[in-house]
Amino acid sequence: MAGVLEVKAGKYTVRGISVGGVYTSLQVPELDAVFDAGITLRSFAGTDNVFLSHGHADHIGGLIGLLGIRGMMSKPKPRVFMPREVQGHLDQALDHMTKIQRYDLSVDGVGVVDGDDHALKADLRVRAFKTHHPVPSVGYQFFRRVNKLKPEFRSLEGSEIGRRRKAGEQLFDQVEHLELAYATDTLLRVIDTHPSLLETRVLILECSFLDERKELSASRAGCHIHLDELLERAEEFKNEHLVLMHFSQIYKPEEVHAILERRLPKHLWERTVVFAPRRGSFF
Ligand SMILES: [Zn+2]
Ligand SMILES: [Zn+2]
Repeated sequence: MAGVLEVKAGKYTVRGISVGGVYTSLQVPELDAVFDAGITLRSFAGTDNVFLSHGHADHIGGLIGLLGIRGMMSKPKPRVFMPREVQGHLDQALDHMTKIQRYDLSVDGVGVVDGDDHALKADLRVRAFKTHHPVPSVGYQFFRRVNKLKPEFRSLEGSEIGRRRKAGEQLFDQVEHLELAYATDTLLRVIDTHPSLLETRVLILECSFLDERKELSASRAGCHIHLDELLERAEEFKNEHLVLMHFSQIYKPEEVHAILERRLPKHLWERTVVFAPRRGSFF
């Protein structure tokens, strides 16, 4: 049985466990971020920012355990991002758990709706986007805002740029470098409602179902992504790396690798990271 998995997607490390409907919790240490808490993973307790996609048990069921471990480590309240509709309910739930446990399990909650953006570090921000699931749900896109010299000034000497800048001339355009996005438990329609996902360097995306063992219509009814529909859109993914995860337990991990290698077009397979163990069973 495999334990915590670790893969590389460009400069980002993705660690954790993900089995569709059972549990998903991932950590990207370079962003100081944990995505979902469907299972309590001891090594994730040191991370100060938790990003919850939605309230289903396979994404939130391990949160209490994580908060308990943080308490034992004397860590401050983590910042927990979540869909705004969920925040009041989660606060109440944690209030009750605090009474049961007689230890403060409250969090620094941040309720988000589509388009909200928040600073994480000096040069790093996160934007929430709406995903398409039967309960309130969001995804998260991390980006850096950088100043880029406008084309008409690119031939200027450095000293001249400095002089004009001091004089208050607007020499720069602000551009966003889209670093990493996390989208799970959603219809594939999310790439239409938030097309910049396709341009983000690293896209972590659910692909719960992979072949005829689950009909496309049934996958859509549950608001999940099926490989059949992803293949139809394969040309649109411009990401440097596509991390696929949240695979259903109806597949064995080695089948997941084999099916994706067989079915994805070569140009996309070469950029795809399969977040499933290579052999053995799912955790
Ligand atoms: Zn799920
Ligand atoms: Zn769900």
